[in-house]
Amino acid sequence: MDKSIRIIPISSLADQLAAVDVARNYSESLLDGMHRPLRDLRISVTDRCNLRCTYCMPREIFDHEHAFLPRAELLSFEEIERITRLFIRFGVQKIRLTGGEPLLRHGIEQLIEKLSRLQTVEGKPLEIALTTNGVLLARKARALRDAGLARVTVSLDGLSEATFRHMSDSRVPVGMVLESIAAAQAVGFAPVKVNMVLKRGVNDHEIVPMAEHFRNSGIILRFIEYMDVGSSNGWRMDDVVTAKEVHERIRRHYPLQAVEPGYPGEVAERWRYMDGSGEIGLIASVTQAFCHECTRARLSTDGKLYTCLFATAFGADLREAIRRGGSDRELTSLIADCWAQRNDRYSLLRHTTTEASGEKIEMSYIGG
Ligand code: SAM
Repeated sequence: MDKSIRIIPISSLADQLAAVDVARNYSESLLDGMHRPLRDLRISVTDRCNLRCTYCMPREIFDHEHAFLPRAELLSFEEIERITRLFIRFGVQKIRLTGGEPLLRHGIEQLIEKLSRLQTVEGKPLEIALTTNGVLLARKARALRDAGLARVTVSLDGLSEATFRHMSDSRVPVGMVLESIAAAQAVGFAPVKVNMVLKRGVNDHEIVPMAEHFRNSGIILRFIEYMDVGSSNGWRMDDVVTAKEVHERIRRHYPLQAVEPGYPGEVAERWRYMDGSGEIGLIASVTQAFCHECTRARLSTDGKLYTCLFATAFGADLREAIRRGGSDRELTSLIADCWAQRNDRYSLLRHTTTEASGEKIEMSYIGG
């Protein structure tokens, strides 16, 4: 259980109804400045991680002196549930729990259980997904599934010990992550997705071995272009291995055929092996920005609402509003105003602004 002791203001029935009205007035028409609806919410449940991936939480910065958020600053499960309920009224269909490493959040199963009871405005179950580095997944897979988690994505940047150690800057054996992937499949997650971030000269020699390893497994391997998230990873365009290049390299070994997107706005370009041995995804987050289709809001570990992964500032402080006793109606208006004012399209502008983009928020805090 989430044991932090805190007074949660319970909204009255009248307030809840007023909030529903505010949402209803907006929901049909709630579009941002680029006519994008609000459909996904990513929630960072902790800013801590048990790996130190060099491109995400480099050890030089996230060391023993780094000030992670104290427990009282984190949104409680009740606060997360309340915020999620309000988001649903605007048409949110899917929640992704992330971090940091979400499985480090004590009692995460209880949060999933709460969220999985919620329904979308159409009365369908809310889809709950989770992204993890897999270190703790083998032992938690069954409980997560039983709690109502629908989908799991595991990050894995290499198969050899040397590459994995280099990317994750840890002593975790790669076999531990592979066991977790197998455990996730064994308890019924289907399909399990595996995300591989590519950094030129560091792990791109493992593109084909990874493809080979996950063919015929039912697992969807997705290659992600390394992005200039945050301000600590020293990103350079030269380090990016493009989706086009990945496609070329794999195609030489295993012919590929394009697959239609599973749903509008799907960020991964889907390709299937022509011999029927499975499917891969290519996420061209840098070279083919998908800002125009981005329907995601992000909730930081301490309850700030961000409207872009590359944000330099938050759009609304929902935790502050909750803890001073703000009503559902007020929170609903905050969310709506924030989304209505959204005009982010950072990835489309990246080539002109990278140099001058200022201090960006770290992914561990805002949620990857
Ligand atoms: N700890 C969990 C994990 O490892 O999956 C969840 C959080 S992590 C920030 C989420 C995803 O973001 C991981 O797949 C990670 O590889 C990816 N990621 C982090 N920094 C990135 C970057 N600079 N470019 C592209 N992907 C990145």
